[in-house]
Amino acid sequence: MRAMSTNPPNLRPDLAPAARLATATRPGQPTIGMVSLGCPKALVDSERILTRLRAEGYGISPDYAGADAVIVNTCGFLDSAKAESLEAIGEALKENGKVIVTGCLGAEPEYITGVHPKVLAVTGPHQYEQVLDAVHGAVPPDPDPFVDLLPASGIKLTPRHYSYVKISEGCNHKCKFCIIPDMRGRLASRPAHAVLREAEKLVDNGVRELLIISQDTSAYGLDRKHDVNLWKDRELRSHITDLARELGQLDAWVRLHYVYPYPHVRDLIPLMAESASNLLPYLDIPFQHAHPDTLRRMARPAAAAKTLDEIAAWRAVCPDITLRSTFIVGYPGETEEEFQTLLDWMDEAQLDRVGCFQYENVAGARSNDLPNHVPEEVKQDRWDRFMEKAQAISEAKLAAKVGRTMQVIVDEVDDEAATCRTQADAPEIDGNLFIDEGFEGLKPGDIVTVEVEEAGEYDLWGRLTG
Ligand code: SF4
Repeated sequence: MRAMSTNPPNLRPDLAPAARLATATRPGQPTIGMVSLGCPKALVDSERILTRLRAEGYGISPDYAGADAVIVNTCGFLDSAKAESLEAIGEALKENGKVIVTGCLGAEPEYITGVHPKVLAVTGPHQYEQVLDAVHGAVPPDPDPFVDLLPASGIKLTPRHYSYVKISEGCNHKCKFCIIPDMRGRLASRPAHAVLREAEKLVDNGVRELLIISQDTSAYGLDRKHDVNLWKDRELRSHITDLARELGQLDAWVRLHYVYPYPHVRDLIPLMAESASNLLPYLDIPFQHAHPDTLRRMARPAAAAKTLDEIAAWRAVCPDITLRSTFIVGYPGETEEEFQTLLDWMDEAQLDRVGCFQYENVAGARSNDLPNHVPEEVKQDRWDRFMEKAQAISEAKLAAKVGRTMQVIVDEVDDEAATCRTQADAPEIDGNLFIDEGFEGLKPGDIVTVEVEEAGEYDLWGRLTG
């Protein structure tokens, strides 16, 4: 029996957590399979679709053979992701035959039907109702309210102890290398009380870490003009500072992703430094570059001029803050001098965790038309030099943790070790801390205290204390 692949959230099918879909189906119950490609934001969409289907009485199948129809949630961000999506649709057609396509690539239906004319329906991103309509058309529901019980936390594709919470969709910026605003539209934020209600429900159901995602977390609520609503008799603005403060009161770690360095990010840092708050001292900030001219050509929302000052100000308030970022090297027109500025900036900024991409044209992106594209071998050389520096910084930062005592969350336990993460590590994208002695009583989701004994390039090893 061929198993379906879900490859969130890091696009590595071999590393992706196993989907928790195993609920027994009753005879005659229609069953749907889901292939979820792309980023954590797409993963959240897949979870929503599955939750709705489950609520309507559909069973969920982890393999093609057990499914009456298959939904493929596609990614269209890079040309390589488009090719992967087309391939996944082809596989689902071959293995199952009844295929409904949704997600980012669904914004270009002819692109899909041109290659795969037999797909039953193509819907775009966030068109939940249309996906459900297509499923109803292909495989009518057969609900039985006495046996179809929806797990209160919905259907999760991430392990039970952590969960992504999407607070807004879309983006008001126009970065030239990005087509997300074209695919996903302008910023649309969820009401703050709806986010908090979902977060509370997740925590009540055993989630110990909430990963807050969006396209632009700092901009949360801008489209709602930061409207005020009541939450537990308190007035609450739809603003990231208010939302983060409230989320930090829940009994779970709260980690912020995709935060742009706007000035008001400063207001989040004192919350991270507060011992009473569970808002982690962790910021995932996509800086992308450090040279003002490169950033201008990218049309990035926040220019770099003051980012080093901002970083220094954050660290003055919260010395333990972990900063993760992503960068693009080889952007059209990037000169050696601009690249060198980026390397020098890295020396100053001393970021803890860094991802780096070599610039790639994406169909529809405005950066494709910029002059002076950088030759492939220069991109590769810059990537190597950048990663060498980033790795040296990460190694030194991890070495400085040896001897320190800290809390870790357990992700997995097998015969050899417990794989955990410190507060500085987001699941799937950052490093791990391994405990290889006395770990037998641990289980995923436990938060325990360890002393760090050893450090490598990206990971740590430690022993339980107390
Ligand atoms: S901020 Fe820029 S890179 Fe991020 S989603 Fe918006 S347009 Fe794309």
